[in-house]
Amino acid sequence: MSLAVLYSRALAGMNAPLVTVEAHLANGLPSFTIVGLPEAEVKEAKDRVRAALQNARFDFPTRHITVNLAPADLPKESGRFDLPIALGILAASSQIPGDSLLQYEFAGELALTGELRPIRGVLAMMCGANHDGRSFVVPAENAQEAALVEGARAYAARSLLEVCAHLAGRDLLAPCGVAETPLEELYPDLVDVKGQAHAKRVLEIAAAGNHSLIMVGPPGSGKTMLATRLPGILPPMTQNEALESASIQSLGSAGFDVRNWRRRPFRAPHHTASAVALVGGGSNPRPGEISMAMHGVLFLDELPEFGRHVLEVLREPLESGRICVSRAARQADFPAQFQLVAAMNPCGCGFLGHYSGKCRCTPDQVARYRGKISGPLLDRIDLQIEVPAVEEQDLARNAGGEGSHAVRARVIAARERQLARQGKPNSQLTTREIDRHCTPDSAGATLLKQAISRLGLSARAYHRVLKVARTVADLAGDATIMGNQVAEAIQCRRFDRR
Ligand SMILES: [Zn+2]
Repeated sequence: MSLAVLYSRALAGMNAPLVTVEAHLANGLPSFTIVGLPEAEVKEAKDRVRAALQNARFDFPTRHITVNLAPADLPKESGRFDLPIALGILAASSQIPGDSLLQYEFAGELALTGELRPIRGVLAMMCGANHDGRSFVVPAENAQEAALVEGARAYAARSLLEVCAHLAGRDLLAPCGVAETPLEELYPDLVDVKGQAHAKRVLEIAAAGNHSLIMVGPPGSGKTMLATRLPGILPPMTQNEALESASIQSLGSAGFDVRNWRRRPFRAPHHTASAVALVGGGSNPRPGEISMAMHGVLFLDELPEFGRHVLEVLREPLESGRICVSRAARQADFPAQFQLVAAMNPCGCGFLGHYSGKCRCTPDQVARYRGKISGPLLDRIDLQIEVPAVEEQDLARNAGGEGSHAVRARVIAARERQLARQGKPNSQLTTREIDRHCTPDSAGATLLKQAISRLGLSARAYHRVLKVARTVADLAGDATIMGNQVAEAIQCRRFDRR
């Protein structure tokens, strides 16, 4: 055989399109050409493959070698194709049997010794291979990640030699086992937060209805502690959510840590983060923080300190749950269904309204500080509350109130009501669905009318109040939204009172 054909996969955003690797040997002057990879990466790939074959004691054929990766216009990081390229050359030169190659897909970067190095995006590639009914051979370090895809067949190998032994039917590779689910969930507990009964209640509402939240309060009031406790009171991840979340994280530079399987992510980028770091991008587009927070929480502390441009780009994914990143010729679409939790100080010095009376900010300065956040962004945040400083006698008290476990049980029950009624959490209701599912009783309707005229609620804020009131009623197990539930929702619109 002087031609061998194998399959591998590229990475394009969240997808892993099929790549066909053809290796052809011809007579003529010895040469080694790779077609279909960016030029800069070709030399590195050639060097690695040549060294790995020689160090694994195979013959590097002294013939005219052409390797073609098709289709040619896919974004390709060359490392992952080392393994299929090496196997193609071996099969084309009859050093390994080529008849079973097409049952598999291969990906893995080769070290010069012939060992296999881990690659990123294994989950997405596994999903693709599984869909097409082929088994996947991956580097051993990616084995647990590969095993997460239900029903997929994956084999893990430590080196090129192990793969060759498997293909020759000598030493078969063991199929990747199902990764262990973490025994203990390592979310911090709500019981650690002292005082702040109102903020905890609002956190529960946020969890139940998947509502976005902004907390305004002085330093040390516990905003960060509260935010980090949100993932621990959210409903458990479904298999699909876990897979989507893990697939995106496996595209990041750190890859996916299987210990985080089924754990809702909590991402807290610093306010100096660039727009690219936040929403994704780069010449070979990678997901940003908002996508890494998929099905989890994105926490933006000190919200006014983020660049204005950075905050504006958040508006699209907050509405659509997706982000389209385009750079030069490449475009990638990443899912970005995150729950936004933001925090900020009440004024530039942070102590406006603090019992210490330390704040000397003028009303003008306060307005300018708050004005750094645009109205349209604030409008998109369902819950807006103040988190006051905890006075010292409160801190001294030990009792922290309920723990996450009890709160989570109520959240799960309320979320189940939403899914049974409308198939989605309340935060995602459209205007038409709000009309259908969120009509309050007469007391609630009167209260809303008063709020509109007195607080000057915008149409968008009005709809958000109704959605939050729906969640409050769901937490209470009520089919109809009552007046007091509307009142509680209105209290959670701190920024509408101008
Ligand atoms: Zn101040």
